[in-house]
Amino acid sequence: MIPLSVPEIRGNEWKYLKECLDTNWISSAGTYVDRFERLVADYLGIKYAVATNSGTSALHMALKVCGVNENDEVFVSALSFIAPANAIRYIGAWPIFVDAEPDYWQIDSKKILEFIENNCEVRSSNLYNKKSGRKITAVVPVHILGHPCDMDPILDIAQKYNLTVIEDASQSLGATYKSRPSGTIGHIGCFSFNGNKTVTCGGGGMVVTNNMRWAETIRHITTQAKNHPVEYVHDQIGYNYRLTNIQAAIGCAQMEQIEDFLDHKRRIARTYEEHLTGSPGINLMKKADWADHSYWLYTILVDGKAYGYTSRELLEALSSLDIQTRPLWQPLHLSGAHNSHFKYNCPISEKLSEGALSLPSSVGLNNIDQRIVIDAINSINHNS
Ligand SMILES: *Cc1c(COP(=O)(O)O)cnc(C)c1O
Repeated sequence: MIPLSVPEIRGNEWKYLKECLDTNWISSAGTYVDRFERLVADYLGIKYAVATNSGTSALHMALKVCGVNENDEVFVSALSFIAPANAIRYIGAWPIFVDAEPDYWQIDSKKILEFIENNCEVRSSNLYNKKSGRKITAVVPVHILGHPCDMDPILDIAQKYNLTVIEDASQSLGATYKSRPSGTIGHIGCFSFNGNKTVTCGGGGMVVTNNMRWAETIRHITTQAKNHPVEYVHDQIGYNYRLTNIQAAIGCAQMEQIEDFLDHKRRIARTYEEHLTGSPGINLMKKADWADHSYWLYTILVDGKAYGYTSRELLEALSSLDIQTRPLWQPLHLSGAHNSHFKYNCPISEKLSEGALSLPSSVGLNNIDQRIVIDAINSINHNS
């Protein structure tokens, strides 16, 4: 089977794990957690990094400390994995789904402005949704598939309307926007180290920021807000969201290889580009001039009419050849988990979600297997 995206274990993972087991430091304290945080912070060039047990909990904590309150509203990408919208609801806040732009498939800042112009008013320098009466306090751009969002217009909007920018960089570790690493461009950024991400801990996440107070608060509340070294006294409601030393040990070994992993992802993308360009009905993902793409999952858009198969039919056909591919996410404004509040119009996200197919993109994908995938895509429609 040629999988979509599987971890690459070929560095110091075994060695570091063995050290955890041999020394009995397997839980949520230990040197690897600190080392992993430092490795990620230094790689990104940011002051503070706080590890969490998932990307979803990282998002929950980022939203919680940066001033998003119950019943606030938050702009978020409609075309995204569901985690950021769920995290907004954990706070008791509400998502406002923003459509993607058609070129790079990222959140469209023009749609945010349009929403503000048509639906909002400013009162005592805060932005309010006139229909719901609620305050809008943040924006969560999700850099999907490894390509950064166009951040400058989003930062301008955020400054003008007093919004906090929380980047969901779960899919874009290693990508840069105008030379700035994704996740470090807004006020606070979140990463995931889930098994299918470029760098993995098995499961894990990270919040990064230059704001010391936020970082300290997250460190405190992710460990049950315990504020005495010995006594079990807690000053607020906390969470058990800390990463274990075992997970961090894997993460450290993975971070040591990140440049190599990114090289492989980029080489895989170049090979797909080389051999799928001009293939009728197959549209390739594009890269903006201002972006350094980390190509988490190489994704094509299938034009069913021109190709002869829809994206889902192609998925099935490839699956019968033991090639694993995946569609993008159901746009969140249509999701059963989030569609009961307001009606949103996000036609680009819907169109992308209908046609997109992510191709095998594991760091360890070899040339022979990749050619099997390419040849299958280039021939399946002729065999029907
Ligand atoms: C993977 C991912 C997350 C976090 O996922 P976890 O499984 O909780 O680590 C969040 N947002 C996006 C966009 C993701 O792709």
